[in-house]
Formats: sequence, C-alpha cells, structure tokens
Amino acid sequence: MRTGNPSCDNLRTNKHVFTLVQTGEEHVQNNTNWLDHTDIFNISNTVMNAMLNSTNSMGNAIELYFVNTLEGGSALGMRSSEGIVIASGGDGLAIVHEVLHDCGTKDIYTVDNQEAETPNPVPGPVSMDRVPSDWGGGYYPPDLTQRELVGRLIMRSGGIDGADTASRWDLPVGTVFGWRHVNPADGSSPKTLDQAGVGQSVIQRNPGSF
Ligand SMILES: [Zn+2]
Repeated sequence: MRTGNPSCDNLRTNKHVFTLVQTGEEHVQNNTNWLDHTDIFNISNTVMNAMLNSTNSMGNAIELYFVNTLEGGSALGMRSSEGIVIASGGDGLAIVHEVLHDCGTKDIYTVDNQEAETPNPVPGPVSMDRVPSDWGGGYYPPDLTQRELVGRLIMRSGGIDGADTASRWDLPVGTVFGWRHVNPADGSSPKTLDQAGVGQSVIQRNPGSF
C-alpha cells in the first residue's frame, strides 16, 4: 500500500535556482505614459505595445520592463512574447512566475473568482489523482487541502488576502488540479476545475523576447 502526502520533493531536492544575469544595458524610458498600465491582457493595447516595442528584441534573453502599476495595483507582472513587465509591488517571485510563463507554464488559481462574494475555492483535500506526478514522500502535512497546496505553487495567480497566505515557492513535477483558464493561453477566458500545466512537465523552451 502506498501512503503519504503529495510533495514537491523533486523541486526541493533538485534545488532549482533562478539566476538573472544582466546582458544588456539598462535603459530609462522617459515616458510618463508608460508608468501605469491598464487592460494589460488586451493584445491591441497600444500603450503597452509601444513600450514593449521600444527596445530591440534580445532573442534568447528576457527583456524586463519595470513600471509603477499594472491594473491599478492588482497585478504584479505580465508576460508577452516581447518582454516581461513587473510592477513596483512585484518581487523576485513575481519575476520567476513570469519567466516560467515564458518557458511554457500556465496559471492556476485557488478560487474561481476572487472578487465575488462567493469566490468558490478549490474544494476538498489533496489526493493522489489531483497531483499525479507529485504524490508520495510526505513533505506536506496530511490534512492539507488542495486549496492550500495550490496556494504554494509558484504558478498560482491571484488569491484572497488573509486566506491564501502561503508563499509561492513550489514548482511541481507534473500538473496539479485547481482552477485554471479554459483556454490557458487566454487570461480572459472563464475558469474550470481541472489539471493545470504548472510544473516541469509542460516546460517547452528557454525564455526569450522576440
Ligand atoms: Zn501568471
């Protein structure tokens, strides 16, 4: 009989470490229109596109744009094929999250709608079928809920203040069950409870800006 709890032991033992090395010059863009961005997932957002196209493609390197706010402060980062934008509230975890998107990973959420009165969290405890590639090892406590596990993932997006308080450290081996977008490539599509591509199994490429 196999007993135990889900773990991200591979993550812990492999000790994935992200190191950013600066390869180009720093540019200060003296344009106040590019300090605060809204409607950031609209691909025809002309202000955002103008900023992202303001420097040349670095190819197999990441262009990082540091701005004041995204969506009035509710988003810490965003990724497009042309570069990654980090808001002033974003930290190293926000950068790693966006760089992992560039590698092919997708978002996962603890709740369906964090703005709603009934946010509809991921129900129930963790089970083997919910973390098929990461079961065993016993790193997590046995009474952990699936919502709590999702909250710990580096690819977790959003969350509710006071409820989803875990630090987002974990990059699992495989997919994990939780709320994800029906079309993972479209951040405006509705959410569904399903396996989400949040682990090493969906990493497809080295990050870059084109
Ligand atoms: Zn994300």
